[in-house]
Amino acid sequence: MRVFRSALLERYSSLIHGFVHDPGGADLPKISSAHGLESILTVNQIHGNSVFFADCATGKELPEADSIVTRRKGVGVGVVTADCVPVLLCFPDSGCICAVHAGWRGTSLRVVKNCLEAVCEKYSLSAQDAVAAIGPAIGGCCYEVRGDVASRFVSGFGDGDWLYEKGDGKFLLDLVELNRIELRDAGVSEIETIDMCTCCQDLPSYRRDGSGTDKMISFVGISP
Ligand SMILES: [Zn+2]
Repeated sequence: MRVFRSALLERYSSLIHGFVHDPGGADLPKISSAHGLESILTVNQIHGNSVFFADCATGKELPEADSIVTRRKGVGVGVVTADCVPVLLCFPDSGCICAVHAGWRGTSLRVVKNCLEAVCEKYSLSAQDAVAAIGPAIGGCCYEVRGDVASRFVSGFGDGDWLYEKGDGKFLLDLVELNRIELRDAGVSEIETIDMCTCCQDLPSYRRDGSGTDKMISFVGISP
């Protein structure tokens, strides 16, 4: 099991987190117990921007959402990815934690900002109280998109060095940088990016290996 950690999140003793690649399959019970958590809750990710508040989850059926939030101690929230961007968003002083799945569709729908705003509103929190870690994802080095996807981002986000034109109607898109900018512009106090590309640095990559690829699980919990 390979586990990457954010130095920023490690600063907070109440937080337990990891960006995990467990070759052969992400075994949630195994990963939870290895980290002293009762369980890691996930959602049925649908490349949208809705938020699931898991405080009173019964745990039977996975709800459809791309952000999952909890304030329960001893329980983690996680997202499963293979190239898409995993974001762990935490309010360490308030004991509120979120895991967000941001692929290109979710990023274009501002899934991270949507989660931040929903949590701030529901629990009367402020973005300045949040810190975020962005995990391994397909990098701007490898994530080639067609002109229709590129132009959707230009019209939604303006210009930026997160898009590079390769020629022949192809572009390289940096989803990590876009999500970092979203969090920064929304007022999140500190953001760390784990600068690893899933596609060219031997992590689970849908773009490289297709649908049979392994998945990463990125989670955060509050210590019991
Ligand atoms: Zn790469």
